[in-house]
Amino acid sequence: MTELRGLPAARAITARCKTEIEALRARGVVPTLAILRVGERGDDLSYERGAVKRFASAGAETRVIALPETCTQDELDAAVRGINEDDGIHAALIFRPLPKHLSEERVKTLLDPEKDADCMTPASAAALFMGRAVLPPCTPQAVIELLDHYNIPLSGAKVTLIGRSLVVGKPLALLLIARNATVTVCHTKTRELPAEARAADILIAAAGSAKMVTAEFTRPGQVVVDVGINVVDGALCGDVDFDAVSAVADAVSPVPGGVGSITTAVLLENTVKAAQKRL
Ligand code: NAD
Repeated sequence: MTELRGLPAARAITARCKTEIEALRARGVVPTLAILRVGERGDDLSYERGAVKRFASAGAETRVIALPETCTQDELDAAVRGINEDDGIHAALIFRPLPKHLSEERVKTLLDPEKDADCMTPASAAALFMGRAVLPPCTPQAVIELLDHYNIPLSGAKVTLIGRSLVVGKPLALLLIARNATVTVCHTKTRELPAEARAADILIAAAGSAKMVTAEFTRPGQVVVDVGINVVDGALCGDVDFDAVSAVADAVSPVPGGVGSITTAVLLENTVKAAQKRL
């Protein structure tokens, strides 16, 4: 069984970006990402720390804009407009979910699509739908990067995806179709889920349900990618029962240490692309 670790893939993407960043810096451009955070949620803060560190290690910059949990919609809108108008900012990540009194829809339509580092605006979603995403959504793209890094062919492959959310499942299905995979999207109403899962060459779990993918979901020869992040008894685990599934499948990505380790590298790559596009 091959363990599909994310770190080597993340390092390769970062190294690729470093070369591009040096070339941009030589032309007087420092790729810069704005991170807009409302409140102080633990997972946002930990992702933010990871992103700031990765950008610094590659020679790119981050600007954290932190608003209090109690901020008004007007204050949030002003922060987004500030990002749009600042020529020194090439891309932006806005943490979601926002506190309940704030409108995510409003923010999505306000952010300049050219600076949309995580494919949240309707214009970016439309481009993705048409197979023309310039800055792909970070987590779905991280899955693609993981599979590419381990030379797992996508063209013609049967891929079963568990999850159809707007953030992971649906955009990932579109990215996979763009790579000529044959995609089956499963969800809570899918009948005979284990059989659908076993039929795939590549099984991707993005359900947010701890260890729901058991040995009966897999078969020898299969590649299993775990996108899930769950906390059980204070410990992090994925949607895949790693021990049970890795005893059967050919390759499995761990949690932590799999897809999640690649997302900030994709964020970096998107920021570099946005800076290059501006030039
Ligand atoms: P979500 O709750 O919005 O969507 C879950 C989807 O899975 C839904 O479409 C639902 O129909 C389906 N689903 C849930 N339970 C199921 C079941 N038992 N059988 C079949 N289908 C089922 O979640 P999301 O935002 O798409 O996130 C999915 C998981 O990915 C979560 O664990 C989340 O924490 C994780 N995630 C990881 C990263 C990362 O960087 N690795 C990023 C974003 C989300």
